[in-house]
Amino acid sequence: MPSPAGHTIVALTLHVLTARDREEATSLARAAVFVTAAVVPDLDLLLRFVDGRNHHQAESHSIGCAAIAGLLAWGLAIAWRLPRPPRWAAAAALGWASHVALDYFGRDTHPPIGLMALWPLSSAHFKFPWPIFMDIGRTLDVKTLRHNIVAVTWEVLALAPWLVLSWRLRKRRSA
Ligand SMILES: [Zn+2]
Repeated sequence: MPSPAGHTIVALTLHVLTARDREEATSLARAAVFVTAAVVPDLDLLLRFVDGRNHHQAESHSIGCAAIAGLLAWGLAIAWRLPRPPRWAAAAALGWASHVALDYFGRDTHPPIGLMALWPLSSAHFKFPWPIFMDIGRTLDVKTLRHNIVAVTWEVLALAPWLVLSWRLRKRRSA
């Protein structure tokens, strides 16, 4: 699984690419919805402390959960009387789905290998056969720390140029 850094860069890229005008592209609230939805799925790691079982990359890493996140954002946007509730819903759903997509291309060393990407339609685990991103170690020793620094550096090098490019495209479109 890629780190929160990788998920944040992809979420911001999608935020910029899907903004319909300059106002939306520079909206911190909209960027925050994208990033939050893209980072939150990995909180499933904490469920282990609730019942002692591994829930990582299960239901939370699926298009079903992305749809639920979108519906939740839609409901909150209506409750808070925000303009254009479907736009907030799309931001949350797309941000969440971006997490699923990025993890699909990441290396996984913790069984069950892969993610339950099509839940609730299927409980099968899916994994890209040639991982692009390294896994992130979950222990606090020096070797893991060194590995994680390399993994995050690679994510930033591979993904940040797309964010810069999307921002340039956005600027050219609004010029
Ligand atoms: Zn994940």
